[in-house]
Amino acid sequence: MRTGRFAAVAVVLLLLSRGEAGGGLLRVAHEGRPYVELRRVAADLDGAALEARPASTRARLRVAGQVITFTRNWARILVNDSPLVLDAPVRVKRGVWLVPESFVARVLPRLAAGTSLVGAQAGARTAAAEVALEELRFRSYPSFTRVVVETSGPLPYRIEAHGPREASIRLIGLAAQAQVEEIRDGFVDEVRLERAGVDALLRVIFEGMAGTTRTMTLADPHRVVLDFARPTEPGPPAEEVTPLRTIVLDAGHGGTDAGAVGPSGLLEKELVLDVTRRAAKLVEERLGVKVLLTRDADSFVPLPDRTSFANRARADLFVSIHANAHRETMTDGVETYFLSSEATDSEARQVAALENGVVRPESPSGRGGATKDIVRTILWDLAQSEFQTESSRLAEIVHDSMTRSLRIGNRGVKQAGFYVLGGAAMPAVLIEVGFVTNPKEERRLRDTRYRDEIARAIVTGLAEYKRNWDARTRAAGELSLPAKTR
Ligand SMILES: [Zn+2]
Repeated sequence: MRTGRFAAVAVVLLLLSRGEAGGGLLRVAHEGRPYVELRRVAADLDGAALEARPASTRARLRVAGQVITFTRNWARILVNDSPLVLDAPVRVKRGVWLVPESFVARVLPRLAAGTSLVGAQAGARTAAAEVALEELRFRSYPSFTRVVVETSGPLPYRIEAHGPREASIRLIGLAAQAQVEEIRDGFVDEVRLERAGVDALLRVIFEGMAGTTRTMTLADPHRVVLDFARPTEPGPPAEEVTPLRTIVLDAGHGGTDAGAVGPSGLLEKELVLDVTRRAAKLVEERLGVKVLLTRDADSFVPLPDRTSFANRARADLFVSIHANAHRETMTDGVETYFLSSEATDSEARQVAALENGVVRPESPSGRGGATKDIVRTILWDLAQSEFQTESSRLAEIVHDSMTRSLRIGNRGVKQAGFYVLGGAAMPAVLIEVGFVTNPKEERRLRDTRYRDEIARAIVTGLAEYKRNWDARTRAAGELSLPAKTR
């Protein structure tokens, strides 16, 4: 038995080295990820038996005394009877069963070696390139808490237990130090990372009862995303049919953070607070929806707190209002942004860098490189990517309204990595209402009538977006009626 397992490990190592040389194991790209043919994997494994018919839903591989069951289009496989999740789904392409390369690189060595053969295990792990923990992070949303395990390579994992008070997830072959993180967001109490032999065990301790858990694996960078839903929350279909009720308006900067400063001393923080207040009043009058402000005074509000506030309030839209700055003082016009990991152009990237400058007052070192990392982190947690289509729709409607009524340069709808938009669990946009660095525009921006015009233009856009939203909501409501009457 022991020698059999050793043989299997040796074969796996051979497979890997041949794979690299372009030999026995042919790497196939599918949906941009590396796959290998299951048939070839089995053929090269000592004493393995494979059952993988082109038309079946499942395939079975018997090797080293274990039965591995694959289901087409599922990342979840069964090893004997315990589930294990690969970093990509198993595919069947033109009748050929394909498994993610990580199955050969990371899972097979472990299965063949068993947990007792630490020596062989270590050998296989070296060949498969060790997966290290890059970062463990969290974010609380109104209906769920997200835990992200970012790693140096694909990470197979297995949910070992999921009770009402605790969930534990085995992160297979992950090299990481033990750590405890306090979350205390009213749902998840803490998250512990513990060593478990050559694996790491992620334990999530709930304050109350746990709801359902959704997991996904993403690449570039590699990470496992675990969403723990609060138990009493209605599911997404119910949320889709709710009318637009709450808008959060976010006046940029404030307090110690003045934002952009004009040649004659106009401060972005004062201008945008005034415009935001004017817009808030109009939204309530004209749209009849609730408006909340992230700040209603000249106070400093850290960027992460602005979206947490909107998330807690279960806002439907998040609109951040700013004014722009440019080295070339003649630059003018309005631009509207939604969040994206890829900036539209280098200017868009610079605007984002400027606005991201102050994340927290207590960490001046948060500027520059560190800020870039924070933004990257938030973007890749994809809180916003779920709302990207909706955010771009909102950006376009508001932007059109602004450029139509303000007789001002149209710099377009753009995308960039704005930290303040990253944490919003709702459609979110950032409006740059003009350039305070342009002397002519600065003069205009000082004028209260012009500020009213800006506020009106924003609110006209929001009203149009709301009509659009309500129409879609009605359509969705009609579609879901039969389900509700059951
Ligand atoms: Zn700003």
